[in-house]
Amino acid sequence: MPENLFHFIAGDFYEGTPVRVGQVVNPATEMVIRHVPYASTVDVDYATTKAQTAFLEWATTPPAARAKILLKWQHLIEQHMDQLANLIGQEHGKSKDEAIGSITRGLDVLTYAIGIPTALMGQYSQDVGRQVDSYSIRQPLGVVTAITPFNFPVMIPLWICSIAIACGNTVLLKPSERNPSCTLLLAELALKAGLPPGVLNVIHGAHETVNALLEHPTIQAVSFVGQTATAEHIQKTAIAFGKRVQAFGGAKNHALVMPDADLESTVDAILGAAYGSTGERCMAISVVVAVGDSIADQLIERLTPKIKALKIGCYTEGNIEMGPLITKEHRQKVLSYIEDGIIQGAHLIVDGRISSFPEKGYFLGGCLFDHVTPTMHIYQEEIFGPLLAVMRVATYEDGLRLINDHRYANGGAIFTRDGDTARNFCTHVQVGMVGVNVPIPVPVGYYSFGGWKRSNFADHGMHGMEGVRFFTKLKTVTTRWPSGIRQGVEFSLPTVSSRNISHD
Ligand code: NAD
Repeated sequence: MPENLFHFIAGDFYEGTPVRVGQVVNPATEMVIRHVPYASTVDVDYATTKAQTAFLEWATTPPAARAKILLKWQHLIEQHMDQLANLIGQEHGKSKDEAIGSITRGLDVLTYAIGIPTALMGQYSQDVGRQVDSYSIRQPLGVVTAITPFNFPVMIPLWICSIAIACGNTVLLKPSERNPSCTLLLAELALKAGLPPGVLNVIHGAHETVNALLEHPTIQAVSFVGQTATAEHIQKTAIAFGKRVQAFGGAKNHALVMPDADLESTVDAILGAAYGSTGERCMAISVVVAVGDSIADQLIERLTPKIKALKIGCYTEGNIEMGPLITKEHRQKVLSYIEDGIIQGAHLIVDGRISSFPEKGYFLGGCLFDHVTPTMHIYQEEIFGPLLAVMRVATYEDGLRLINDHRYANGGAIFTRDGDTARNFCTHVQVGMVGVNVPIPVPVGYYSFGGWKRSNFADHGMHGMEGVRFFTKLKTVTTRWPSGIRQGVEFSLPTVSSRNISHD
C-alpha cells in the first residue's frame, strides 16, 4: 500500500478535497506508516452520485450473474490472503493466524452471498381470489453505507458488503480510519473480479464523514458496527434522516462455569476467548461467572500460569498469541481500568503491566481479576482489552440473574456437562448469541449475527437471511388478466368473497 491513501470511487482512486488528513500508525512500532484523507461532504456527494449511477444497472443484473462475480471475488481474496493478513498485522497488530482466521470468517459470509439467487426467491400463490394471483419479491434498496470498526478490518466489511451487493445494492464502505488499507485491497479485487465500477466504493474518514453519509438524501440504509455510544448516535441520526438502519454496539460477554464443567477444556476455551486478539473482540469473554468457590479456585489456579506465559509481540515475529492494543490512548484507557479495579477492591491475580513484552508499541500483558462484584466499573463497562474478571456466585440461578441484569447482551456461554442446565440456559439467558461449551458463539454465515439490549440497535441481524431482509424491500404483487367477464364497479375494499375478486 502506498504511503498516501486515496478513496476508491467508481473503480478509480480519488483524492477529493479532504476535511483533514489522518495518520495510520503501526501499533507494534508506534510508527506513522500511512496518511489517509477524511472525506468532505463534497467527496461524499461525489461518491454517492457514482454509486447511484451504478445502482441503476446493478439492481437489474440477474442475481445469478451477481453471484458469479462474487465467486471470482472470493477466489481473488483467497489468493491475496497473505497480503491482507499482513496489512491487518501492520495496521491492527493481529497475529497472522488470527488475521487469517478473521478473513476466513469474512469469506464464510461471502459464500452465503454467492447463494443469493435462492435467498431472493419470493413466494407465489395462485387463485388468492377467482382468477387473481399474488407473488412477493425482494428488491434492493439503492445506495447503502457500511461504517465499520477497527477490530475486524476485513471480516466485518465482508459481512456487510457481500450481502448488500449480492442483493443488488451499491455500497459506500467507510472503514475505520485506524486501519483503512485492507478495504482498498478488497475493493480493487472486487473490480478485478468483474464487479462494475461504482458498486463497491471505499470512502475514508472519521465522524465528519460519517455524519455527511448519514445526512445524504440518496443513501437509503446504514449498517454500522462499533462502540455503543456511536451506535446510538448512528441509529438516532439515520432514523431522523429517514434511513433504514442497523447499528451493532459494544459488549460484555459472560462465561457461566458450572461445577461439573470439563475443567481442562474450559480453561483453554476461556483463555483463547478472553485474550485472543488482545481482548479486542466484541465476542470476547470478559467475565467468568464461577458457580461455587471450588470451581473458581480451580479455574484461577489453572488460568494463572497460562496467562503469564502468553506470547506477546509484533505480528512479524510469528507464533505470537497477543499483539498490541490499537492505540496509545486505548492502552491508557485499559490501564486506567486496572487501577480502578484495584481501588474498588477486586483482587489482581495476574498483573499484565509487568508481563514481558516489547518496550515500543502499545503492548499489555493479560490481566486477571478475582472477586469482582456487580457494581465495579471493570464489570459494568466494556474494556476491550486483555482483562478477565472472575465473579463468584453460589448457584446457577444467581449466575443467570447476574448475566441477565447486565446492560450489554451480545453473547454468552455456559460450560457444563449437564443437558438440563444447558437447555435452561439457552432458553432463559437474555443475550443474542449463546454457546454451550463454545466460548465465542459467532454464528456461521447462513445464520445471523446480533446481540440484544445495548449491544444492538437493529431490527435485523447481520448476514444470513436477516442480512438479506435488511438489504431488500419486500414487494407484493396482485395480478388479474382480462377474461371477458365484466367486473363492475366496487367501492368497498375487495375481499375474497367480494364481486371484484370472486366474480360472484
Ligand atoms: P467506534 O465506534 O469508535 O468506530 C466505529 C466506526 O464509527 C468507525 O468507522 C469510526 O470512524 C466511526 N465513528 C467513531 N466515532 C464516531 C462518531 N462520533 N460519529 C460518527 N462516526 C463515528 O468503534 P471502534 O473503536 O472502531 O470499534 C470497537 C467497538 O466496536 C467495540 O465497542 C466493539 O465491541 C464494537 N464491535 C461490535 C461488534 C458487534 O457486532 N456488536 C463487532 C465488532 C466490534
